[in-house]
Parts: sequence; C-alpha cells; structure tokens
Amino acid sequence: MLDLTAQQKELIRATKDYVDRVIRPAVSRLDSLQEIYEFPYDLMREGSALGLKSMPLPTELGGIDADMVTQALVVAELAAGDVSVGYFFRHYWRFARLIPRLPDEIRAMVVDGISHDEKFVPASASTESAAGSDNSVPYDAPGAGAMLSAVKDGDDWILNGEKFMITNGGIATLYFVLARTDPSKGVVDGCTMFAVPASTPGLTCGPLWPKLGQRGSPQADITFKNVRVPAANAMTKVGEGYAASERGLIAANITNAGMCLGIAREAYDLALKWSTERVQGGQAIYKHQLVAHDLGRMKTLVDSTRSHLINVAWRYSHDREFHESESWQIRVMAADAAIEVTQKALFLFGGRGIMKNYPIEKLVRDALTMTHGNGTSELMTMKIGLHEGEKLIKGDG
Ligand SMILES: Cc1cc2nc3c(=O)[nH]c(=O)nc-3n(C[C@H](O)[C@H](O)[C@H](O)COP(=O)(O)OP(=O)(O)OC[C@H]3O[C@@H](n4cnc5c(N)ncnc54)[C@H](O)[C@@H]3O)c2cc1C
Repeated sequence: MLDLTAQQKELIRATKDYVDRVIRPAVSRLDSLQEIYEFPYDLMREGSALGLKSMPLPTELGGIDADMVTQALVVAELAAGDVSVGYFFRHYWRFARLIPRLPDEIRAMVVDGISHDEKFVPASASTESAAGSDNSVPYDAPGAGAMLSAVKDGDDWILNGEKFMITNGGIATLYFVLARTDPSKGVVDGCTMFAVPASTPGLTCGPLWPKLGQRGSPQADITFKNVRVPAANAMTKVGEGYAASERGLIAANITNAGMCLGIAREAYDLALKWSTERVQGGQAIYKHQLVAHDLGRMKTLVDSTRSHLINVAWRYSHDREFHESESWQIRVMAADAAIEVTQKALFLFGGRGIMKNYPIEKLVRDALTMTHGNGTSELMTMKIGLHEGEKLIKGDG
C-alpha cells in the first residue's frame, strides 16, 4: 500500500482543518455567487497562506514540488467542503508547468501573483459556442474547433473572437487562450496558445453564467476585439497549441477526479451518519437490508475511486509508462461514482434529501456538474476504447 509522506499527511490535515473552519461555514455564500464583484477572495486567503496555490511549483519559486498524489488528495479535501474551492486552487496547479515558458514580464506576474496577490487568477480559454467537443475529440477540419483568430502584425499577434463558459471568466487576470493561427488547417495543427493579461485593451467579459451546481466557481464568456499581444506571449510554437492544451488536460483530469472523490466521500459520510440516527420501522434505518445495501455500494464506490485515483496519480508523477488514457478512465469513473453516491444519499435522506436546509441536494447538483470537465464523459470513454483498439492492433495491448 502507498504510504504517504509526513509532509503529505500534514498538508492534507491542514487543508481539512482549513475547510472545516473556513469553508464549511461559508458554503451557502459560495452556493449563491451571482456577480463577479461578489467573488469571495477572503475565503481563499487562509488556503493561499497554507501554500495551496503554489504547491506544485518548484521550491525556488515558492512551492513544494507537490506530486500528483498530493494534488489529488488535497483537492479531494477541498471539494469535500465545497467543490468550487477545489476548482479555485486547482486552477493554479494547471499552469505550474507553463511557468518556465512564460515571457519574463508575465512569468514575474504569475510567480509574484501566486505568492503575494490574492487577486491574481489564471484561466484557460479553449471552448467557443460553436467549438466544444471538437476541441477535445477533434473533428480535424478547417472551420471546426477553436476559431478565435490570431493574425500576425509585425512583432505582435492580433486576436479576434470569443470564448465560451470559461472558468474564472471575469475574475481572471491572465487567460491562456487557444487561437487559430492557420485557418487552412484543422484544430490539431492550426492553433497556437497565447498568454493574454485580462487588462489588455479589447478583452471584455460577459456576466457570470447562472448554473446548477459548483456555483462558487464562476464561468463567463470572453470577447476579444483587436486584442494585441507581443509574439513572446505565444506559449507554444505556432501550430502546437492543441497538443499543449491536451497535455494540460491530463493533470486536470486527475484533479477533477479528486474533486469527484471529495463530493462522493462527503455524501457517503453524511448518509452513513444519518442512517445510524434516523429511526423508522422501529430501528435505525441502516439496519434495513435495502439501506445497508445502498451504504455498502456507496462505501465500495468511494474506496475503489480513492484507490484507483491514487494509483493513477502516482503513475502520472512517477511512471514513464503512464498513458493519458488512464487520466480519462479515472475522470469518467470518479464522476460516475460521485453521481451514484450523491443520488443514493439523496434517497437515504428521504424528503429531507431535496431540502436546502440539508446538505445533500447541493452535493447532488455539484456531482452533476462533473461530467463535462475537460471534455464530456461520453467522449472520454470513447477515446479509451479507441486507444485500447489501436494498442491491440499495434501489438502492445
Ligand atoms: C462549469 C463549466 C466550466 C467550464 N470551464 C471551461 C474552461 O475553463 N475553459 C474552457 O475552454 N471550457 C470550459 N468549459 C467548456 C467545456 O469544456 C465544454 O462544455 C465541453 O468541452 C463540452 O462541450 P459542449 O458543452 O459544447 O458540448 P458539445 O460538444 O456540444 O456536446 C454535446 C453532446 O454531444 C456529444 N458529442 C459531441 N461531439 C461528439 C462526437 N464527435 N461524437 C459523439 N458524441 C459527440 C457530447 O458527448 C455531448 O453529449 C466549461 C464548461 C462548464 C459547463
């Protein structure tokens, strides 16, 4: 069995303590976020001081070089309190690996922002209203996938177009944008990724999207009108933006799975406690065979998700044989587990399950938001099957 280090155990303990004292009492505030100016930076302050933003960075940049196991287990603790807080901190981790490639001025803004500026927030912007799944299972034809255009003008690039449902849209100070630099090619070879500070003239954002769950994590659409960025802001070689974006999603799939685990575990813990306290039919309901069966199923899903997650996370950080398909598997499996476990918890709470005075309905809503992150579960599952088929045909299956 994997033995966590003393540092990992301490970080997880401190995160849980922060969640219990600061996040849990503020859950209804997070769940009612409606406007950009309401974003609760104050709730994130203690987590930032704990080092939760910087933890995957190398020590010389103020981090602790946290591996993927640490990231997955820490984000599970955050999501057990509120999945939006998990998303908030996880977004910093997504960009850690890009830092060495940033132009000097932006790198200083990122490193300094992570350590000292609570209003420094990054966002990743690929989706457009006509380009959703086409960015993750590319329908690789000119005219499909991300079409926000970037056109060279002297030493600069000029960006025009829109991005859709972008997490941290509105509060972000730096966007990583997938832009079409060659419209004659498909998304795979025709895109480049740019770092664009939110303060760049011509960049504006729409209002927050109201949504089912995960409500403390804002999404907005972003419009680019003649947004000029220097050539140094290209994060990839021209035409290599899609590959970079896909690489970034591997780690994000694993931390998304961590958030699903946190939601599922919280629902299970609440349902188990409730089932030992609620008496009907002359006994605590957990003694009824149907309830015990549901609890057994929930416990099995939570524990197997955790084991599989730790295995995949460890392999991501430490095993050169790791394949991105494993990140799709755990992301899909964990989202399914979160949905099934929260739904069973809802039923075990009886009528109280759907009442806002009880915690379960929010967990059900949060779980339902986890099926499209980084691409839909359906398409990820299809990609796993395709990968397995290709592996067998190549003779390494
Ligand atoms: C809360 C939230 C946060 C988000 N944050 C971000 C963000 O930070 N950055 C960002 O860039 N995007 C973000 N997105 C967008 C997200 O990545 C997309 O929602 C996702 O990629 C799916 O695209 P879509 O919604 O356009 O669905 P569509 O692509 O329109 O899919 C609709 C349905 O069709 C199916 N489908 C589509 N294509 C195929 C196919 N080729 N074969 C079979 N079935 C297919 C899908 O599985 C799905 O069931 C966010 C979305 C949400 C809801």
